[in-house]
Amino acid sequence: MKGCCFVSSSGPDLGHGLPAYAAAAFPLQKSYNPPFVRILLLSDIHSNLEALDSCLAAAPAHDLVVNLGDTVGYGGNPNEVIAKAQALGRVFVRGNHDKAVCGLMNLEDFNPVAGLATLWTRDQLTPKNLEWLRELPQGPIHVDELPDIQFVHGSPLDEDEYMVSARDAIEPLITIPVPVTFFGHTHLQGGFVLTGEISEAYHPGYRTVGQPESSDWPLRKDRRYLINPGSVGQPRDGDWRAGFAMFDSDAWVVSFYRIPYNLRVAQEKILAANLPQRLATRLATGR
Ligand code: ZN
Repeated sequence: MKGCCFVSSSGPDLGHGLPAYAAAAFPLQKSYNPPFVRILLLSDIHSNLEALDSCLAAAPAHDLVVNLGDTVGYGGNPNEVIAKAQALGRVFVRGNHDKAVCGLMNLEDFNPVAGLATLWTRDQLTPKNLEWLRELPQGPIHVDELPDIQFVHGSPLDEDEYMVSARDAIEPLITIPVPVTFFGHTHLQGGFVLTGEISEAYHPGYRTVGQPESSDWPLRKDRRYLINPGSVGQPRDGDWRAGFAMFDSDAWVVSFYRIPYNLRVAQEKILAANLPQRLATRLATGR
């Protein structure tokens, strides 16, 4: 079984008496399980092929892949990462870097380093891939079979807005009636939960700094959530490991993951492309 080697933080009772991994080991009973029970959530891959490959190798079995945007920008393998992302599935949300690279958004709001990476990426991409970026849909994205879930890049209220703090999260949590929104953009793994009128931040706990790990967050049906699976290709929460999440829409549990990857190769590609050095060094610190 994939995932057996992880350091797994055991979460509270999931309602059926089994830890998440034990539940995943059993075949799905199609007679009562809805489709897309286990959803692999990827966000902010940012052209980092090494990080994406390591996440895919570590991800447990899943029924659907959702990409929350910023597939490109910053890293050294934009065409390769787009090809891989396209092969994974059909559910995408566009990110601000996706828009900027294909010319749908100007670079005014980008810092000089992000701007340089955007222009380099635009130069590298095939015309077909630029066209694909142009056609990516704006969030929120809904999947018919999953009415209680939606997918966005920034915020459900504004695709380019950053939800960093519990204060940032309160307005979307109160005004959007969908119980669970998955988002990206901040590169910070975790989320926010609305209890009454209080918005609280949640950060997954890990025990190591360099091992593959997972951490479960069991959700309650009577709460609203905003959940960020973390950034695959450029984490900014001080943990260099690639981040992603898995959502079990049957057990209503989010499992966060952090996976080591071949950092040195990813850095060398950035330097070899003459991209700003800062884009290589920041990967090592997760900042
Ligand atoms: Zn991003």
